[in-house]
Amino acid sequence: MVVKKFDHRAVEKKWQEIWEKEALYTPKLGNPEKKFYNLWMFPYPSAEGLHAGHAYASTGSDVFGRFKRMNGFNVFQPIGYDSFGIHSENYAMKINDHPAKMIARTTKHYEAQMRSLGHAYDWTRTVTTSDSDYYKWTQWIFIEMFKAGLAYKKKAKVNWCPSCKTVLADEQVVTPSAAGKEPKNAKGEVVPVSEGMEVCERCGTLIERKELEQWFFRITEYAEKLLEGLDTINWTEKVKTAQRNWIGKKDWIDIRYPIDGINEEIVVSTTRPDTNFGATFIVISPEHPFVERIIRGEIKVDEEVKNNISNYVNVSKSKSDAERIAEGKKKTGVFTNIYAINRLNDYKMPIYVADFVLMSVGTGVVVGVPGHDRRDFEFAKEFNLPVKRVVVGNDADNSEINSIEKVMEDDGKVVNSGFLDGLDTNDALKKVMDYLEEKYWGKRTTRYHLRDWLISRQRYWGPPIPMIYCEHCAQEGKSFFSDKESEVGEEVCGWYPVPESDLPITLPEIKDFKPEGSGKGPLANHPEFYKTKCPGCGKEAVRETDVSDTFLDSAWYFLRYPSVGSEDAGKTPWNTEITGNWLPVDLYFGGAEHAVLHLMYSRFVWKMLVDRGFVDKKLGYEPFPWFYAHGLMIKDGAKMSKSRGNVVNPDEYIEKYGADTLRLYLMFMGPMDGYPDFRDTGIEGMRKFVERIWSLFADMGSKPKSQSPQLDIKMHQTVKKVTEDIGQFKYNTAISAIMEYVNVLKAQPKGEVDKQYLTALTLLLAPFTPHLAEELWKVTGNKDSVHVQSWPVYNPDRTMEDTISVPVQVNGKLRGIVTLERGKEKDKEYISNMAKNDTKVSKWLEGKEIKKEIYIEGRLLNLVI
Ligand SMILES: [Zn+2]
Ligand SMILES: [Zn+2]
Repeated sequence: MVVKKFDHRAVEKKWQEIWEKEALYTPKLGNPEKKFYNLWMFPYPSAEGLHAGHAYASTGSDVFGRFKRMNGFNVFQPIGYDSFGIHSENYAMKINDHPAKMIARTTKHYEAQMRSLGHAYDWTRTVTTSDSDYYKWTQWIFIEMFKAGLAYKKKAKVNWCPSCKTVLADEQVVTPSAAGKEPKNAKGEVVPVSEGMEVCERCGTLIERKELEQWFFRITEYAEKLLEGLDTINWTEKVKTAQRNWIGKKDWIDIRYPIDGINEEIVVSTTRPDTNFGATFIVISPEHPFVERIIRGEIKVDEEVKNNISNYVNVSKSKSDAERIAEGKKKTGVFTNIYAINRLNDYKMPIYVADFVLMSVGTGVVVGVPGHDRRDFEFAKEFNLPVKRVVVGNDADNSEINSIEKVMEDDGKVVNSGFLDGLDTNDALKKVMDYLEEKYWGKRTTRYHLRDWLISRQRYWGPPIPMIYCEHCAQEGKSFFSDKESEVGEEVCGWYPVPESDLPITLPEIKDFKPEGSGKGPLANHPEFYKTKCPGCGKEAVRETDVSDTFLDSAWYFLRYPSVGSEDAGKTPWNTEITGNWLPVDLYFGGAEHAVLHLMYSRFVWKMLVDRGFVDKKLGYEPFPWFYAHGLMIKDGAKMSKSRGNVVNPDEYIEKYGADTLRLYLMFMGPMDGYPDFRDTGIEGMRKFVERIWSLFADMGSKPKSQSPQLDIKMHQTVKKVTEDIGQFKYNTAISAIMEYVNVLKAQPKGEVDKQYLTALTLLLAPFTPHLAEELWKVTGNKDSVHVQSWPVYNPDRTMEDTISVPVQVNGKLRGIVTLERGKEKDKEYISNMAKNDTKVSKWLEGKEIKKEIYIEGRLLNLVI
């Protein structure tokens, strides 16, 4: 019999050891039948250990994996560490440690924590991205990108974090609120938030712009494929929307305007040509070649104007893009003294140079329509330019048509626009595009917001970029591609990938690993690292000294897991057969904050690998056909953060209350996609519930009653509810149903609950409280593990109450309801007699002849008189 007190420390440790010994969670990967690859986004060690947010998310994934296993699936649930990259390196520097030492220490703690949570991970197949046997293949992927013409190096104005002392990809530059940090300047001082502020996703420092030579991956080449694929996958909708918006496909038209008085044209790009009759000026980006030509004197303007433009261009160089395009900011600009002609109405539009127009958007020139664009309006007000109304709301009156104090950006009816007058803006859009194309004044084009992925980092803690530059070859115009250079662009001139047999290019252990901010990485101070021979001509050459972005490490780790430990793991990035059996990932569980970062990069890398034939196209064109975005845990109503001092360490709770109690509490706090609030009082209550379950089994079976109709129904109802709710990640309501069931069992006379009702309870608890369930399973006299048992099935007929109510009508009007024992509703005669004897019904039948009885089984009886 069970001991009275539940000793979670002894029970949890015991079962963790037994599971490990019996390899309970190590599936045979040769058997892909009913495979279920259950993946949680691996953590990046940027602290000494996991916080409760990790425990919350990983438990959500673990519950589902356990549920699938009990439903007959062969579940593979691996775990690892995203241990390379800025996140970990910044932490190491903060605590004055070497990242390699810090990672060796913290990953041990992470593992201990995840084991103590009782997660069903396959610990024989882990991945650590900073291990050379892993990053060898990260480097190989870089080389394959290069060979595919998808990697190139060029000088570009890029995002620079003065605190992390490295460049960042566009996706890693966010608003202060998205970073979840107070914005700081380069000196580390907190500054007030303002419109258009851009900060480093990692550290919250204001981004600067620098012109540097950088490696890029041509993800833009995959824009359409990335977009199309979104329609084929089962992902949390907001994550798909975020990717769609980031890719940002739009239909544009480029309109050519002749310049007044000189034989030149300027090409303007717009998505709203339906408002073109309202254009009153033109704005050119300071980086536009037309502006350069003015400064060089190729396009003649007054000397004073030229100097003003030149000064303005220099000032705008220091501003960030977001700062430039923010609405509500005072607009600046310089008039060029040049006019362009709008051929639609022969209007002469003055041309300005202004930095709210970016060279990277469209053609770098916009047409100013101040009546219908907020920034254009702000600019027009600043420079006293006319504002014309050309779109009105569908029910607008004359005063509105002539009002020029407001911007109207919505769709509506077109006015003051010649042949477009009276049209709906959508119709006008098409008509004017057709018209401009017919006249050869404009050309439709599709553009994307997506930019190429900036992959270089001027840091130490990452895989060295496996590329070699040869000055001799460069001077002769040679590269790895030799005569094919025209296809891949001149940016690769002089570059060769490291021969595959030389991989990995090991990250040397150096003491001076801290970034200097010079625009070069720490490896650039180590000639013993970078001096090498050219794979092309054999002469002296240099290695690239930047390392690759950490998001490349995590873009393929799920491909590696199943092949870890396979015979050829050292010779190939993944085993073809095992990969064919186990990929793609069946359920990917993780945070929505990775929407345009990891989740997009991984899709891109997977598609490249499929296109290059390294991943069988039979596995599909998407690595994660199903992605579920979990919510974000908060503590006592506020976001957990180190500065607030409210970061919950799961270790304390596991020690005090046990992992099962913590798991149950984390899953009970709210729906898995919400913002559950962790409160200490809540976990205490959950511990009491666990003890209640325990006592139920302690009281078990001295004089059991084998059958109880009431308990039967409750059991089937509970199994139904828990099964359906787990399937929809509504773990909180599943646990509520289990609690109700426990209450009903507790209400029975002591010792009278039959074992079958407790067995069902044990099985339902198994995904949530794996140790407790295992212990109870043994206590009730079972063999094997509870975690390899079949999930309980419910009988739909038995989930209903034992009585049934049938409405009775007389001539189609409701006159009464009869209640009968379930099962008896099949007997028409029985129910008809009951109805006729019911006092409420019988008074309508007095003295009448029943001509017809219409009965819909269990649902309705209609007596026709
Ligand atoms: Zn930073
Ligand atoms: Zn060479």
